[in-house]
Amino acid sequence: MDAAFFREWLTESAAVIESQRDHLTQLDAAIGDADHGINLARGFAAITAALDQTSTPTPGSVLTLAGSTLISKVGGASGPLYGMAFRQAGKALGGTEQADARLLASALEAALAGVQKLGAAKEGEKTMVDALAPAVSAFSQAIDDGAAAADAIGALAGAAAAGAQATIPMQALKGRASYLGPRSVGHEDPGAASTALILGALRDVALRQPT
Ligand code: ADP
Ligand code: MG
Repeated sequence: MDAAFFREWLTESAAVIESQRDHLTQLDAAIGDADHGINLARGFAAITAALDQTSTPTPGSVLTLAGSTLISKVGGASGPLYGMAFRQAGKALGGTEQADARLLASALEAALAGVQKLGAAKEGEKTMVDALAPAVSAFSQAIDDGAAAADAIGALAGAAAAGAQATIPMQALKGRASYLGPRSVGHEDPGAASTALILGALRDVALRQPT
């Protein structure tokens, strides 16, 4: 997977986030302040603009630029958290021009560690961690089992989608939604939903790759 692959992932993510912007905002209206779709659509549009204007010759430089852009352009909880995720992933990829599946696994682990270091959320607290953590472990498990990269990315996206759905019965213990206490139960977490969209975009891009 080269820099072009990672740029395509971000472009695809921007398109999906834009098309689901109102949906994400509605999810945030139920248990937050109705800005998640707006925040992320602005952030990912800024990422595509930054990628157009900046030379990003390596996968690591693509993800680092994305993370820095999110941190500078997106307010709220999710901008710094996603920014941290992409920056830590970019750092883990180092200067390599071709990331193999095992390196991508370490980048995903680094992204999760970054989110948890900054936000201190554990699984079960109704945040993006509930989509990201099972996705990262499904990916690493698939690679350890000898799966091809595209199949492991399929497992990653599937686990993220299931993880987002699993936030519905949870009570929020972190972030703005936690202010609602038990009234946060019964709604999908917006950040978990957007994580599932971003990792779904990765799957769609991987499926388009010639094998
Ligand atoms: P804000 O809550 O500041 O309005 P957003 O609406 O953009 O920011 O993002 C809300 C999402 O951020 C939540 O749905 C949740 O997934 C995520 N989030 C909030 N706090 C944390 C945290 N401490 N750790 C991980 N994710 C968090
Ligand atoms: Mg919000």
